[in-house]
Formats: sequence, structure tokens, C-alpha cells
Amino acid sequence: MGIRSRIFFIILSCLFIGISLAFVVAERDLAIGLQEQIETELSKQAKILRESFAQSEQSREPINLKSQIDSYSKASGSRITLISRSGDVLVDSSIAMSNLISLDNHSNRPEVIAAFSNGFGSSKRFSNSTQQEMLYFALRDVNNKPDRVIRISVTNEYLDRSLASLENSMTLIVVVALIVAILASILAGNYIRESLMDLERAAADMSDGSSKIKDMKNLPLKRSDEIGSMARNISTISMNLKKQISLIAKQRDQFGLVLDGLGEGIMVLNEDGLITFRNDQIMQILELDEIINLSIHDLEISALSRMFKKAKKKGKFDSEFELETAAEDTRWILAHMNQAKATQEFILVVHETTQLRQMDSMRRDFISNLSHELRTPVSVIKANSETLLNGALEDKKDAKIFSKAILHNADRLSEMVTSLIDLSRIEYGELKFVIESINLNQIIETAVFSYNNKAKKKNIKVAFNRQKDFVVNSDAKAIERVLNNLIDNAFKYSPENSIIEIKLKKQGDSIRLAVIDQGEGVAEEDQDLVFKRFFRTASARANTQQGSGLGLAIVKNLVYNLQGDVGVESRPEGGSEFWFTIPIK
Ligand code: ADP
Repeated sequence: MGIRSRIFFIILSCLFIGISLAFVVAERDLAIGLQEQIETELSKQAKILRESFAQSEQSREPINLKSQIDSYSKASGSRITLISRSGDVLVDSSIAMSNLISLDNHSNRPEVIAAFSNGFGSSKRFSNSTQQEMLYFALRDVNNKPDRVIRISVTNEYLDRSLASLENSMTLIVVVALIVAILASILAGNYIRESLMDLERAAADMSDGSSKIKDMKNLPLKRSDEIGSMARNISTISMNLKKQISLIAKQRDQFGLVLDGLGEGIMVLNEDGLITFRNDQIMQILELDEIINLSIHDLEISALSRMFKKAKKKGKFDSEFELETAAEDTRWILAHMNQAKATQEFILVVHETTQLRQMDSMRRDFISNLSHELRTPVSVIKANSETLLNGALEDKKDAKIFSKAILHNADRLSEMVTSLIDLSRIEYGELKFVIESINLNQIIETAVFSYNNKAKKKNIKVAFNRQKDFVVNSDAKAIERVLNNLIDNAFKYSPENSIIEIKLKKQGDSIRLAVIDQGEGVAEEDQDLVFKRFFRTASARANTQQGSGLGLAIVKNLVYNLQGDVGVESRPEGGSEFWFTIPIK
């Protein structure tokens, strides 16, 4: 029910009760007042009659009074009855004298009894003689001997009419009250509604969380009545609520940031396996789209479904499983699921262990490669030493050959160990670079010159056409080392009577330096692998040429540390082109 209807009913009820009470009281008072007034009037008339009877000599005989009583009755509109002490009706204005005999004895009438004992009496009742509601007044006439009672009666009509007119007035008042109630309820309702509208709007804004300071300013805060105090309360509640909400939001954001920054993927499930929370990390690790409100089984990761079932039984469960990704590579996931005692929710924490596993496998490969590479020179040294000890030492010529082999392999071992140490120093960033302006032409020419003897031995021509000055800001020693490694390899893997060419060119913001040979080249599938530690192509392994497979790994690390890039391309005409870039600035 609206506020206006309520006010209407309240006003109407109040008016109804008020008017009804007023009506009852007024009707009662009016009836009493009128009755008293009529009685007074009847008493006066009775007294007049009594006096007129006293003056008349004939009055002793009731029959003689009939015409006087009739004419008086006609004039006054009342019924006049003369009653003897024995209760007989002596004369009655409305009944012929001959019919009086049929009337009841009146000695038991209350007004007659009162009149004979107190001098006068009155009553109101239904008359059998006239068949109407009547008001009676009786006066004892002591002037006559024996005494008698003069009774004057009138119908109740006047009283009834007065009361009926009161009822009419009351009906009119009720109608007016109804109209007043409607108008008052409309006015009061509108007034209160207007006053409450701003409060209602502010409360509605609060309830959907969109309350703004601007809305609060529209509240009737300055009013001194109850609406004003309600507005002030709403404004305070709203402000407090706002502070609380922003505090909670801040805490939630901070919590979210912490969870996202953890690196671990986190998911919370309810007892039925419905996902109620997740951080961004878990979406990336498990390669999922939005999962809130989905069941853990909907993720279609059987390992997780299994974990949930086990964790439900045991309270917690750990597992490491493989995940097939969209790119069809395999990811390793380490997952831990625990049921929170307080909320009975399940918390899933996942880490990606692919990299750890890869590193572990790399470590294992490295150790196995290293042992393999070290074993060859060590076994050669061992075998030659044994041969020497077993007698070869006696033969000077043999002793020289075996000692040379030992020295050569010892050199190889030492070279390998130095390369390994260098590589790890470069990888761990321990090598300090001295960045300065370098003229690449000069570095290349020096390198080419140092390979003169080697070139002559294999009849290889090292071709480099000095070009316009290419100057870069970089570390000269590192570049020399990279260049020497590439030229070394070119000599190692080139046939005799061939050409090794060195080329410089500008490429974007860098200078590209290439060492091109006419050797066996590098097959496409090996082009990335040759830069890995210990990797040697099958033909290189088969070749008697010695090598550790560490040179290009050092090259790659050095170039990357100098912010450049490195690669190899096979040439259609045979041979390979190893290149690297150095940023100019
Ligand atoms: P290594 O000591 O074996 O030369 P590197 O790391 O320098 O080690 O080279 C790795 C592998 O790359 C070599 O074993 C060889 O198979 C291949 N390689 C390097 N340079 C060349 C080249 N110029 N031509 C053909 N293959 C090469």
C-alpha cells in the first residue's frame, strides 16, 4: 500500500471514529434535551389545564370537561386524559365518552403512579390506544376532590424528526469528512512523498553501490525535522559504506596483485568442485579461458579431476602431470590441492616445471657430453703413457711420437677446460666488456694477417676487401674472439685450395659481419643446434678434425652479450655463411 493510501485510511479512520462518537453523544444529548423540553412544555400545559379546571364549577363532573379538553387538545395537538385515583380513564380527548369503558385501567402507568405519589410524573413508551410511541406527562389535580391526574401526551414524532435531521447532518458531515480525508491525504502524501523522494533515491543509489557525493548533496540535510535527521543518517551511512567498500576493494586488489605476482597459479573450488576464484597465472599456465563458475571437471584436464577426487577423500593431494598445449608441446605441471579447514574449500596451487625439467635434462646432457668429450683425450693420454711405460720409452723415436700425442691431447684437454670456464663466465655475466669505438676493417685485417701461415699450409685464400670505414661501439677483444672462432671453423671445415671470404655490410642499426667458406656447409636441421654446447654435426664427428663443440656456443653467448645476433646459412653453391651483427651504437 502506498504512503498516500495509508495516510488516507488513517485520516479516514480517525474522522470516522471521531464523527461516530460525536454523533452518538449528540444524539443522546439531543434526545434527552428535547425530551426535557417537551416535558416542560407538557407540564406547563397540564398546569394551565389544572388552573382552568379549578375555575370551572362544572369541572367536578368529568363529562362536563370533555368539550373543554377536546378543544384544548385540538389547539395544542396533544392528547389529554383525565385519570381517577383508581386508574379509570375519566375523559380522553382522542376517545369518545361512550368508548371509555373499553380502555384498560391506567393505575399501573408509570407517569400516573408518579403523579399520585409525587405530584407529577413522565414516561415514554408505546401506546396501545394510539399504536404509536408517545411521551406522557401526568400532573396530580388536587383541586378536585377526590384528586385525579391530568395527563398530557404527544407523539414522539418531533423527537424522531429532530433525530432524523441530526442523522442527515451527520451524513453530510461524513461526506465532507471523506472529501477532506481524500484532500488531506493527497496533500500530506505529496508533501511526505516529495520529502522522501531524495532519501529514497539516495538509498536506492546506496543499495546498488552507485551513490555519489553529488547525490548526497541533494538530500535535505539541513531540515530540522525527522526527514532531515533521516537524511543525515543516510548520508553518514553512505559515506561509511563508501569508505568500507573502497577499503575492501583496495584490499581485494592488493590481494589479487599479490596472488598474480606470486608466479604460482591459484584456484579455489567449493566442495562440489565449482571454481569460485582463480588468479591470472593459472589461466596462463593451464592455457584456459574464463573458468569462474565452471566445475573442475569442465576443464577437461583429467589429472586435475583425479586430484580433486583424491583430495576430497584425503584432504590434500600432490601430483605432477604432463599437459598437452594448443601448440602441441608438452608442459609439466606440479600441482598441490589442499582442503581449507575453516571453509571446506579446496585450494589448488600449480607451478610450471617444464623449464626446471628442461634445465635438469640439459644438466644431464651437459655432464654426459662433457664426460664423453673429456674421455677421448684422457684415454689417448692414458694409452700413450702406458705404451711408453711398457717399453716404448726405450725407443727414442717411438718415445717422441707417444710423448707428442700425450702433449697434443693434454693441450686439447686444457683448451676444452679453458673454453668451458670462459663459457660459464660469459653465461654468468662475469666477463666485463670494455665498450669503445672500434674500426671493424682494422680488426678483420689483423685477424686475416694472423691466419697467413695456416692459409699457406692448406692453400686457402682468405679474401677481405677493405670497405668504407665501419665503426661500431663495442668490445674489441670479444669481437676478435668471435671472428677468430668463425675463421678457425672455416679453416677446419673447408677443403684445401678453397677460398674463405669475409664480408661487412650495414644492416639497419647494425653492422653484419659474415665468414663464408666453400666447405661442407651445415644442414638446415642442424643450423640452430650448432650453437649449442658440445653439438657437432655427424660429419664433424666422423672427421678426424678435432673439436669440442664449444666454440660456437661461446660465439653465440658473446654476440648476445654485445646485443647482436648470430646465425648460419647454407649457400646454394656449397659451403656455409656464418654471420653475426653488432649494433653501431
Ligand atoms: P667444434 O670445435 O666442433 O668446431 P664449434 O662449436 O665451433 O665446435 O662448432 C660446432 C659444430 O658446428 C662443428 O662441430 C661443426 O659440425 C659445425 N661447424 C662449425 N663451423 C662450420 C663450418 N664452417 N662449416 C661446416 N660446419 C661447421
